[in-house]
Amino acid sequence: MKSAERPLSGWGHYPVETCRFFRPEKRAGVDAILSSGQESSYIARGLGRSYGDAALNQNAGVIGLERLNRLIAFDPETGVLECEAGVSLAEILDCFLPRGFFLPVTPGTKFVTLGGAIAQDVHGKNHHRVGTISSFILDFRLLTASGDLLTCSADHHRDVFWATVGGGGLTGLILSARIQLRRVETAYVLVDYLKVAHLDEAIAAMADSDHLYEFSVAWIDCLARGSALGRSVLMRANPALRSDLPHEYAEPLSPRKRFQNSLPFDFPSGLLNPFSVRAFNALFYGAHRTISDRLVDVESFFYPLDFIHHWNRMYGGRGFVQYQLVFPLETSAVGLTEVLQRVSQSGRGSFLGVLKRFGEADEGLLSFPFSGYTLALDLPVTDGLVSFLQDLDSLIIRHGGRLYMAKDAATTAESFAAMYPKLDEFRAIKARLDPKNRISSSLARRVGIVRP
Ligand SMILES: Cc1cc2nc3c(=O)[nH]c(=O)nc-3n(C[C@H](O)[C@H](O)[C@H](O)COP(=O)(O)OP(=O)(O)OC[C@H]3O[C@@H](n4cnc5c(N)ncnc54)[C@H](O)[C@@H]3O)c2cc1C
Repeated sequence: MKSAERPLSGWGHYPVETCRFFRPEKRAGVDAILSSGQESSYIARGLGRSYGDAALNQNAGVIGLERLNRLIAFDPETGVLECEAGVSLAEILDCFLPRGFFLPVTPGTKFVTLGGAIAQDVHGKNHHRVGTISSFILDFRLLTASGDLLTCSADHHRDVFWATVGGGGLTGLILSARIQLRRVETAYVLVDYLKVAHLDEAIAAMADSDHLYEFSVAWIDCLARGSALGRSVLMRANPALRSDLPHEYAEPLSPRKRFQNSLPFDFPSGLLNPFSVRAFNALFYGAHRTISDRLVDVESFFYPLDFIHHWNRMYGGRGFVQYQLVFPLETSAVGLTEVLQRVSQSGRGSFLGVLKRFGEADEGLLSFPFSGYTLALDLPVTDGLVSFLQDLDSLIIRHGGRLYMAKDAATTAESFAAMYPKLDEFRAIKARLDPKNRISSSLARRVGIVRP
Protein backbone atom coordinates (compact mmCIF):
# COMPACT_ATOMS: atom_id res chain seq x y z
CA MET A 1 0.00 0.00 0.00
CA LYS A 2 1.21 3.49 -0.90
CA SER A 3 1.93 6.12 1.71
CA ALA A 4 2.19 9.89 1.40
CA GLU A 5 5.22 11.58 2.93
CA ARG A 6 3.94 14.70 4.62
CA PRO A 7 4.35 17.00 7.57
CA LEU A 8 1.99 15.98 10.38
CA SER A 9 1.18 17.44 13.76
CA GLY A 10 -1.28 17.00 16.58
CA TRP A 11 -3.98 19.52 17.48
CA GLY A 12 -1.44 21.93 19.01
CA HIS A 13 0.48 22.21 15.68
CA TYR A 14 3.60 21.50 17.74
CA PRO A 15 5.77 19.63 16.93
CA VAL A 16 5.41 19.23 13.15
CA GLU A 17 7.20 16.14 11.83
CA THR A 18 7.63 14.41 8.49
CA CYS A 19 5.84 11.06 8.55
CA ARG A 20 4.73 8.54 5.96
CA PHE A 21 0.98 8.51 6.18
CA PHE A 22 -1.21 5.52 5.20
CA ARG A 23 -4.99 5.72 4.94
CA PRO A 24 -6.36 2.16 4.63
CA GLU A 25 -10.06 1.76 4.03
CA LYS A 26 -10.44 -1.81 5.18
CA ARG A 27 -9.06 -4.20 7.75
CA ALA A 28 -7.19 -6.09 4.99
CA GLY A 29 -5.39 -2.87 4.10
CA VAL A 30 -4.15 -2.49 7.67
CA ASP A 31 -2.86 -6.08 7.66
CA ALA A 32 -1.08 -5.45 4.36
CA ILE A 33 0.66 -2.32 5.66
CA LEU A 34 1.87 -4.01 8.83
CA SER A 35 3.04 -7.19 7.13
CA SER A 36 4.84 -5.35 4.32
CA GLY A 37 7.44 -4.16 6.83
CA GLN A 38 8.14 -1.25 4.51
CA GLU A 39 8.60 1.17 7.41
CA SER A 40 10.83 0.74 10.47
CA SER A 41 7.76 1.27 12.68
CA TYR A 42 4.11 2.34 12.64
CA ILE A 43 1.69 4.14 14.92
CA ALA A 44 -2.09 4.38 14.69
CA ARG A 45 -3.76 7.76 14.24
CA GLY A 46 -7.39 8.73 14.63
CA LEU A 47 -8.52 12.32 14.07
CA GLY A 48 -5.30 13.87 15.36
CA ARG A 49 -6.95 15.54 18.38
CA SER A 50 -4.17 14.62 20.76
CA TYR A 51 -2.16 17.81 21.08
CA GLY A 52 1.51 16.81 20.82
CA ASP A 53 3.34 13.88 19.24
CA ALA A 54 1.30 10.88 20.47
CA ALA A 55 0.06 10.16 16.94
CA LEU A 56 3.30 11.09 15.14
CA ASN A 57 6.17 8.87 14.02
CA GLN A 58 8.99 10.91 12.57
CA ASN A 59 10.39 9.50 9.31
CA ALA A 60 8.33 6.33 9.77
CA GLY A 61 4.76 5.08 9.31
CA VAL A 62 1.52 6.58 10.63
CA ILE A 63 -1.63 4.57 9.92
CA GLY A 64 -4.70 6.81 9.77
CA LEU A 65 -7.71 4.74 10.79
CA GLU A 66 -10.52 7.25 10.37
CA ARG A 67 -11.76 5.48 7.25
CA LEU A 68 -12.41 2.32 9.26
CA ASN A 69 -15.65 3.88 10.42
CA ARG A 70 -18.38 1.31 9.97
CA LEU A 71 -21.11 0.70 12.52
CA ILE A 72 -21.29 -3.08 12.95
CA ALA A 73 -24.18 -3.84 15.35
CA PHE A 74 -26.44 -2.10 17.84
CA ASP A 75 -28.80 -3.58 20.42
CA PRO A 76 -31.49 -1.03 21.33
CA GLU A 77 -32.47 -3.12 24.38
CA THR A 78 -29.04 -2.97 26.01
CA GLY A 79 -27.54 0.10 24.29
CA VAL A 80 -24.42 -1.86 23.28
CA LEU A 81 -22.83 -0.56 20.08
CA GLU A 82 -20.17 -2.44 18.12
CA CYS A 83 -18.25 -0.40 15.58
CA GLU A 84 -14.93 0.00 13.87
CA ALA A 85 -12.38 2.02 15.78
CA GLY A 86 -12.28 4.88 13.27
CA VAL A 87 -15.88 5.86 14.00
CA SER A 88 -15.90 9.31 15.59
CA LEU A 89 -17.84 10.25 18.69
CA ALA A 90 -19.60 12.83 16.47
CA GLU A 91 -20.83 10.02 14.20
CA ILE A 92 -22.06 8.03 17.20
CA LEU A 93 -23.97 11.04 18.50
CA ASP A 94 -25.47 11.86 15.10
CA CYS A 95 -26.81 8.36 14.82
CA PHE A 96 -27.80 7.48 18.39
CA LEU A 97 -28.71 10.67 20.22
CA PRO A 98 -31.99 11.00 18.28
CA ARG A 99 -32.70 7.40 19.40
CA GLY A 100 -32.18 8.33 23.06
CA PHE A 101 -28.58 7.22 23.64
CA PHE A 102 -25.60 9.36 24.64
CA LEU A 103 -21.91 8.62 25.19
CA PRO A 104 -21.18 7.30 28.69
CA VAL A 105 -17.96 9.37 28.78
CA THR A 106 -16.94 12.10 26.38
CA PRO A 107 -13.91 14.38 26.12
CA GLY A 108 -14.32 18.10 25.40
CA THR A 109 -14.49 17.51 21.65
CA LYS A 110 -16.59 15.02 19.72
CA PHE A 111 -14.11 14.98 16.84
CA VAL A 112 -12.12 12.04 18.18
CA THR A 113 -12.31 8.41 17.10
CA LEU A 114 -13.38 5.62 19.41
CA GLY A 115 -9.93 4.03 18.92
CA GLY A 116 -8.21 7.28 19.92
CA ALA A 117 -10.50 7.62 22.94
CA ILE A 118 -9.64 4.09 24.13
CA ALA A 119 -5.92 4.50 23.43
CA GLN A 120 -5.81 7.55 25.74
CA ASP A 121 -8.44 6.19 28.17
CA VAL A 122 -10.21 9.55 27.92
CA HIS A 123 -12.07 11.15 30.79
CA GLY A 124 -15.03 13.49 30.71
CA LYS A 125 -16.82 15.90 33.00
CA ASN A 126 -18.28 12.89 34.85
CA HIS A 127 -15.00 11.24 35.87
CA HIS A 128 -15.76 11.84 39.55
CA ARG A 129 -18.85 9.63 39.13
CA VAL A 130 -18.03 6.99 36.51
CA GLY A 131 -14.30 7.00 35.72
CA THR A 132 -12.85 6.86 32.22
CA ILE A 133 -14.19 5.46 28.95
CA SER A 134 -12.61 2.07 29.74
CA SER A 135 -15.43 1.44 32.27
CA PHE A 136 -17.79 1.23 29.31
CA ILE A 137 -15.69 -0.74 26.83
CA LEU A 138 -16.96 -4.30 26.81
CA ASP A 139 -14.16 -5.46 24.55
CA PHE A 140 -12.04 -4.49 21.55
CA ARG A 141 -10.12 -6.22 18.82
CA LEU A 142 -6.42 -5.44 18.77
CA LEU A 143 -4.12 -6.15 15.83
CA THR A 144 -0.65 -6.68 17.26
CA ALA A 145 2.72 -6.15 15.58
CA SER A 146 2.95 -9.88 14.83
CA GLY A 147 -0.41 -9.80 12.99
CA ASP A 148 -2.38 -11.57 15.76
CA LEU A 149 -5.92 -10.35 16.38
CA LEU A 150 -6.71 -10.38 20.11
CA THR A 151 -10.16 -9.79 21.57
CA CYS A 152 -9.41 -8.01 24.83
CA SER A 153 -11.68 -7.19 27.75
CA ALA A 154 -11.43 -6.87 31.52
CA ASP A 155 -11.75 -10.71 31.60
CA HIS A 156 -10.02 -11.83 28.43
CA HIS A 157 -6.37 -10.94 27.74
CA ARG A 158 -6.86 -8.77 30.80
CA ASP A 159 -3.24 -7.58 30.97
CA VAL A 160 -3.30 -6.47 27.32
CA PHE A 161 -6.64 -4.72 27.89
CA TRP A 162 -5.20 -2.60 30.74
CA ALA A 163 -2.01 -1.91 28.80
CA THR A 164 -3.97 -0.79 25.74
CA VAL A 165 -6.42 1.59 27.43
CA GLY A 166 -4.27 4.65 27.99
CA GLY A 167 -1.36 2.92 26.22
CA GLY A 168 -1.03 5.52 23.45
CA GLY A 169 -1.48 3.02 20.60
CA LEU A 170 1.74 1.20 21.54
CA THR A 171 0.31 -2.30 22.04
CA GLY A 172 -1.13 -2.44 18.51
CA LEU A 173 -4.00 -1.15 16.41
CA ILE A 174 -7.52 -1.25 17.81
CA LEU A 175 -9.71 -2.25 14.88
CA SER A 176 -13.15 -2.38 16.49
CA ALA A 177 -14.80 -2.18 19.89
CA ARG A 178 -18.07 -2.70 21.75
CA ILE A 179 -19.14 0.22 23.90
CA GLN A 180 -22.06 0.55 26.31
CA LEU A 181 -24.02 3.72 25.47
CA ARG A 182 -26.20 5.39 28.11
CA ARG A 183 -29.88 6.20 27.81
CA VAL A 184 -31.03 9.82 27.97
CA GLU A 185 -34.51 11.33 27.86
CA THR A 186 -33.37 14.57 26.24
CA ALA A 187 -30.40 16.18 24.52
CA TYR A 188 -30.16 18.81 27.28
CA VAL A 189 -28.59 19.26 30.70
CA LEU A 190 -29.58 21.50 33.60
CA VAL A 191 -26.56 23.57 34.56
CA ASP A 192 -25.73 25.38 37.79
CA TYR A 193 -23.11 28.11 37.40
CA LEU A 194 -21.17 29.11 40.49
CA LYS A 195 -18.73 31.98 40.48
CA VAL A 196 -15.92 31.71 43.04
CA ALA A 197 -13.33 34.33 43.90
CA HIS A 198 -10.29 32.14 44.63
CA LEU A 199 -8.77 28.70 44.02
CA ASP A 200 -9.45 27.53 47.60
CA GLU A 201 -13.13 28.34 47.16
CA ALA A 202 -13.23 26.40 43.88
CA ILE A 203 -11.63 23.35 45.50
CA ALA A 204 -13.91 23.58 48.54
CA ALA A 205 -17.05 23.86 46.37
CA MET A 206 -16.06 20.84 44.27
CA ALA A 207 -15.18 18.79 47.35
CA ASP A 208 -18.47 19.67 49.07
CA SER A 209 -20.96 19.37 46.29
CA ASP A 210 -19.59 17.69 43.12
CA HIS A 211 -21.34 14.50 44.26
CA LEU A 212 -24.68 16.22 43.58
CA TYR A 213 -23.84 16.56 39.89
CA GLU A 214 -23.17 14.03 37.13
CA PHE A 215 -21.03 16.54 35.25
CA SER A 216 -18.68 19.08 36.74
CA VAL A 217 -15.97 21.34 35.35
CA ALA A 218 -14.61 24.81 36.02
CA TRP A 219 -13.17 27.52 33.84
CA ILE A 220 -10.26 29.04 35.73
CA ASP A 221 -8.58 32.41 35.24
CA CYS A 222 -4.91 31.47 35.04
CA LEU A 223 -3.62 35.01 35.09
CA ALA A 224 -5.41 36.29 38.17
CA ARG A 225 -3.07 36.96 41.07
CA GLY A 226 -3.04 37.65 44.80
CA SER A 227 -6.44 37.39 46.45
CA ALA A 228 -8.03 36.50 43.08
CA LEU A 229 -5.61 33.65 42.29
CA GLY A 230 -7.56 30.82 40.71
CA ARG A 231 -10.89 32.63 40.51
CA SER A 232 -13.22 30.36 38.57
CA VAL A 233 -16.65 29.71 37.18
CA LEU A 234 -17.91 26.24 38.10
CA MET A 235 -20.29 24.68 35.61
CA ARG A 236 -22.05 21.65 37.03
CA ALA A 237 -24.95 19.80 35.53
CA ASN A 238 -27.33 16.86 35.55
CA PRO A 239 -29.16 15.41 32.55
CA ALA A 240 -32.46 17.15 31.84
CA LEU A 241 -35.53 14.96 31.90
CA ARG A 242 -38.37 15.28 29.43
CA SER A 243 -40.43 16.93 32.18
CA ASP A 244 -37.73 19.63 32.58
CA LEU A 245 -38.26 20.88 29.02
CA PRO A 246 -40.74 23.64 28.14
CA HIS A 247 -43.65 22.60 25.87
CA GLU A 248 -42.21 24.30 22.80
CA TYR A 249 -39.27 21.83 22.76
CA ALA A 250 -41.13 19.46 20.46
CA GLU A 251 -38.10 17.26 19.74
CA PRO A 252 -36.32 16.73 23.05
CA LEU A 253 -33.64 14.51 21.53
CA SER A 254 -32.77 16.84 18.64
CA PRO A 255 -31.52 20.21 19.84
CA ARG A 256 -31.59 23.01 17.31
CA LYS A 257 -28.40 22.99 15.20
CA ARG A 258 -26.14 25.95 15.86
CA PHE A 259 -24.24 27.70 13.14
CA GLN A 260 -20.68 26.39 12.87
CA ASN A 261 -17.80 28.68 12.07
CA SER A 262 -14.27 28.04 11.00
CA LEU A 263 -11.01 29.96 11.42
CA PRO A 264 -9.79 30.18 7.82
CA PHE A 265 -6.09 30.81 8.54
CA ASP A 266 -3.48 30.94 11.31
CA PHE A 267 -3.72 34.10 13.39
CA PRO A 268 -0.45 36.03 13.67
CA SER A 269 1.72 34.56 16.45
CA GLY A 270 1.68 36.82 19.46
CA LEU A 271 -1.95 37.87 19.10
CA LEU A 272 -2.68 35.82 22.18
CA ASN A 273 -0.44 37.43 24.75
CA PRO A 274 -0.85 38.10 28.48
CA PHE A 275 -2.63 41.41 27.74
CA SER A 276 -5.25 40.01 25.35
CA VAL A 277 -5.74 36.91 27.52
CA ARG A 278 -6.11 39.03 30.68
CA ALA A 279 -8.74 41.12 28.91
CA PHE A 280 -10.60 38.01 27.73
CA ASN A 281 -10.49 36.45 31.20
CA ALA A 282 -11.86 39.60 32.84
CA LEU A 283 -14.67 39.62 30.29
CA PHE A 284 -15.48 35.94 30.76
CA TYR A 285 -15.45 36.13 34.56
CA GLY A 286 -17.49 39.34 34.50
CA ALA A 287 -20.06 37.94 32.09
CA HIS A 288 -20.97 34.94 34.29
CA ARG A 289 -23.33 35.01 37.22
CA THR A 290 -24.12 32.42 39.86
CA ILE A 291 -27.33 30.93 38.53
CA SER A 292 -29.14 27.57 38.79
CA ASP A 293 -31.02 25.22 36.51
CA ARG A 294 -30.15 26.76 33.18
CA LEU A 295 -31.27 24.50 30.33
CA VAL A 296 -28.35 23.98 27.95
CA ASP A 297 -28.12 21.66 24.94
CA VAL A 298 -25.48 18.93 25.12
CA GLU A 299 -23.45 20.32 22.20
CA SER A 300 -22.99 23.67 23.95
CA PHE A 301 -22.26 22.12 27.34
CA PHE A 302 -19.90 19.32 26.30
CA TYR A 303 -18.32 20.72 23.13
CA PRO A 304 -18.25 24.54 23.29
CA LEU A 305 -15.04 24.69 21.22
CA ASP A 306 -16.38 22.46 18.44
CA PHE A 307 -18.53 25.36 17.19
CA ILE A 308 -15.38 26.92 15.74
CA HIS A 309 -13.61 24.50 13.44
CA HIS A 310 -9.80 24.91 13.42
CA TRP A 311 -9.91 27.10 16.55
CA ASN A 312 -6.33 25.90 17.09
CA ARG A 313 -5.25 28.39 14.38
CA MET A 314 -5.88 31.13 16.91
CA TYR A 315 -2.44 30.39 18.36
CA GLY A 316 -0.61 31.24 15.15
CA GLY A 317 1.87 29.29 13.07
CA ARG A 318 4.16 28.28 15.94
CA GLY A 319 1.31 26.41 17.61
CA PHE A 320 0.66 25.75 21.27
CA VAL A 321 1.05 23.13 23.96
CA GLN A 322 -1.66 21.95 26.26
CA TYR A 323 -0.24 21.16 29.66
CA GLN A 324 -2.61 18.99 31.69
CA LEU A 325 -1.63 17.77 35.14
CA VAL A 326 -3.28 16.05 38.07
CA PHE A 327 -2.31 16.33 41.72
CA PRO A 328 -3.43 13.96 44.49
CA LEU A 329 -6.16 15.32 46.78
CA GLU A 330 -3.71 16.02 49.64
CA THR A 331 -1.33 18.18 47.60
CA SER A 332 -3.78 19.73 45.14
CA ALA A 333 -4.26 23.10 46.86
CA VAL A 334 -0.57 23.80 47.33
CA GLY A 335 0.48 22.29 43.97
CA LEU A 336 -2.13 24.18 41.96
CA THR A 337 -1.31 27.42 43.75
CA GLU A 338 2.37 27.05 42.83
CA VAL A 339 1.59 26.22 39.20
CA LEU A 340 -0.78 29.18 38.81
CA GLN A 341 1.73 31.51 40.42
CA ARG A 342 4.53 30.34 38.13
CA VAL A 343 2.38 30.67 34.99
CA SER A 344 1.06 34.04 35.99
CA GLN A 345 4.56 35.34 36.85
CA SER A 346 6.10 33.91 33.68
CA GLY A 347 4.17 36.31 31.48
CA ARG A 348 2.76 33.36 29.50
CA GLY A 349 -0.97 33.72 29.03
CA SER A 350 -3.15 30.62 29.06
CA PHE A 351 -6.31 31.39 27.13
CA LEU A 352 -8.08 28.25 28.24
CA GLY A 353 -7.81 27.06 31.81
CA VAL A 354 -9.87 24.11 32.97
CA LEU A 355 -10.08 22.70 36.49
CA LYS A 356 -11.77 19.47 37.46
CA ARG A 357 -11.94 17.00 40.33
CA PHE A 358 -11.19 13.38 39.35
CA GLY A 359 -12.57 10.24 40.97
CA GLU A 360 -10.64 7.02 41.54
CA ALA A 361 -8.02 5.70 39.10
CA ASP A 362 -8.72 2.59 37.01
CA GLU A 363 -6.27 -0.21 36.29
CA GLY A 364 -4.86 1.27 33.06
CA LEU A 365 -1.08 0.96 33.35
CA LEU A 366 -0.50 4.32 31.65
CA SER A 367 -3.94 5.87 32.22
CA PHE A 368 -3.76 9.46 33.36
CA PRO A 369 -6.54 10.16 35.89
CA PHE A 370 -6.36 9.45 39.62
CA SER A 371 -8.21 10.86 42.58
CA GLY A 372 -7.35 14.56 42.84
CA TYR A 373 -7.62 17.83 40.92
CA THR A 374 -6.63 18.25 37.30
CA LEU A 375 -5.71 21.51 35.60
CA ALA A 376 -5.33 22.02 31.83
CA LEU A 377 -3.60 25.08 30.39
CA ASP A 378 -3.07 26.10 26.76
CA LEU A 379 0.27 27.84 26.28
CA PRO A 380 1.35 29.36 22.95
CA VAL A 381 4.75 28.18 21.73
CA THR A 382 7.25 30.95 22.40
CA ASP A 383 11.01 30.92 22.99
CA GLY A 384 11.86 29.01 26.14
CA LEU A 385 8.46 27.33 26.53
CA VAL A 386 9.84 23.78 26.56
CA SER A 387 12.38 24.48 29.30
CA PHE A 388 9.73 26.41 31.27
CA LEU A 389 7.46 23.34 31.12
CA GLN A 390 10.26 20.94 31.99
CA ASP A 391 10.97 23.04 35.10
CA LEU A 392 7.29 22.90 35.93
CA ASP A 393 7.46 19.10 35.62
CA SER A 394 9.71 18.89 38.67
CA LEU A 395 7.12 20.82 40.67
CA ILE A 396 4.44 18.36 39.50
CA ILE A 397 6.61 15.39 40.53
CA ARG A 398 7.48 16.97 43.89
CA HIS A 399 3.77 17.08 44.72
CA GLY A 400 3.11 13.53 43.50
CA GLY A 401 1.35 14.60 40.28
CA ARG A 402 1.56 13.53 36.66
CA LEU A 403 0.97 14.82 33.12
CA TYR A 404 -1.49 13.61 30.47
CA MET A 405 0.20 11.95 27.47
CA ALA A 406 -2.61 12.94 25.11
CA LYS A 407 -1.64 16.57 25.61
CA ASP A 408 2.09 16.44 26.28
CA ALA A 409 4.78 17.72 23.91
CA ALA A 410 7.65 18.59 26.21
CA THR A 411 8.29 16.24 29.10
CA THR A 412 11.44 14.11 29.42
CA ALA A 413 11.94 10.37 29.89
CA GLU A 414 13.19 10.94 33.43
CA SER A 415 10.08 12.91 34.43
CA PHE A 416 7.74 10.50 32.69
CA ALA A 417 9.20 7.52 34.60
CA ALA A 418 8.75 9.42 37.87
CA MET A 419 5.11 10.14 37.04
CA TYR A 420 4.03 6.69 35.85
CA PRO A 421 5.01 4.03 38.44
CA LYS A 422 3.58 1.16 36.34
CA LEU A 423 5.79 1.96 33.36
CA ASP A 424 7.96 -1.18 33.76
CA GLU A 425 4.85 -3.36 33.91
CA PHE A 426 3.70 -1.74 30.67
CA ARG A 427 7.12 -2.25 29.06
CA ALA A 428 7.06 -5.96 29.94
CA ILE A 429 3.72 -6.46 28.15
CA LYS A 430 4.88 -4.35 25.21
CA ALA A 431 8.09 -6.44 24.94
CA ARG A 432 6.03 -9.65 24.86
CA LEU A 433 3.66 -8.36 22.15
CA ASP A 434 6.18 -6.43 20.10
CA PRO A 435 9.79 -7.38 20.91
CA LYS A 436 11.19 -5.43 17.95
CA ASN A 437 9.24 -2.23 18.66
CA ARG A 438 7.53 -2.26 15.27
CA ILE A 439 4.81 -0.14 16.85
CA SER A 440 6.28 3.11 18.05
CA SER A 441 5.59 6.84 18.13
CA SER A 442 7.59 10.02 18.47
CA LEU A 443 6.12 10.49 21.95
CA ALA A 444 7.01 6.94 22.97
CA ARG A 445 10.66 7.52 22.05
CA ARG A 446 10.79 11.02 23.57
CA VAL A 447 9.44 9.90 26.95
CA GLY A 448 11.37 6.63 26.90
CA ILE A 449 8.48 4.14 26.79
CA VAL A 450 10.20 2.68 23.75
CA ARG A 451 13.98 2.95 23.51
CA PRO A 452 15.05 4.93 20.40
C1 LIG B 1 -10.68 20.47 22.20
C2 LIG B 1 -10.19 19.20 22.82
C3 LIG B 1 -10.71 18.81 24.03
C4 LIG B 1 -10.28 17.62 24.63
N1 LIG B 1 -10.82 17.27 25.82
C5 LIG B 1 -10.44 16.12 26.42
C6 LIG B 1 -11.04 15.70 27.64
O1 LIG B 1 -11.91 16.37 28.19
N2 LIG B 1 -10.63 14.52 28.16
C7 LIG B 1 -9.69 13.73 27.58
O2 LIG B 1 -9.39 12.66 28.11
N3 LIG B 1 -9.11 14.11 26.41
C8 LIG B 1 -9.46 15.28 25.83
N4 LIG B 1 -8.89 15.65 24.63
C9 LIG B 1 -7.86 14.78 24.04
C10 LIG B 1 -8.47 13.74 23.10
O3 LIG B 1 -9.66 13.22 23.61
C11 LIG B 1 -7.50 12.56 22.95
O4 LIG B 1 -6.24 13.01 22.55
C12 LIG B 1 -7.95 11.50 21.95
O5 LIG B 1 -7.07 10.42 22.05
C13 LIG B 1 -7.97 12.01 20.51
O6 LIG B 1 -8.51 11.00 19.67
P1 LIG B 1 -8.12 10.95 18.12
O7 LIG B 1 -9.04 9.98 17.45
O8 LIG B 1 -8.03 12.31 17.56
O9 LIG B 1 -6.69 10.26 18.21
P2 LIG B 1 -5.21 10.79 17.76
O10 LIG B 1 -5.00 12.11 18.35
O11 LIG B 1 -5.07 10.65 16.30
O12 LIG B 1 -4.34 9.69 18.49
C14 LIG B 1 -4.28 9.72 19.90
C15 LIG B 1 -3.59 8.46 20.41
O13 LIG B 1 -4.42 7.34 20.18
C16 LIG B 1 -3.74 6.37 19.40
N5 LIG B 1 -4.74 5.79 18.52
C17 LIG B 1 -5.64 6.43 17.72
N6 LIG B 1 -6.43 5.54 17.10
C18 LIG B 1 -6.02 4.31 17.50
C19 LIG B 1 -6.43 2.98 17.20
N7 LIG B 1 -7.45 2.72 16.38
N8 LIG B 1 -5.75 1.96 17.77
C20 LIG B 1 -4.72 2.19 18.63
N9 LIG B 1 -4.32 3.42 18.95
C21 LIG B 1 -4.95 4.46 18.41
C22 LIG B 1 -2.65 7.13 18.69
O14 LIG B 1 -1.55 6.28 18.39
C23 LIG B 1 -2.28 8.16 19.72
O15 LIG B 1 -1.40 7.64 20.68
C24 LIG B 1 -9.30 16.82 23.99
C25 LIG B 1 -8.76 17.21 22.77
C26 LIG B 1 -9.20 18.40 22.18
C27 LIG B 1 -8.62 18.81 20.85
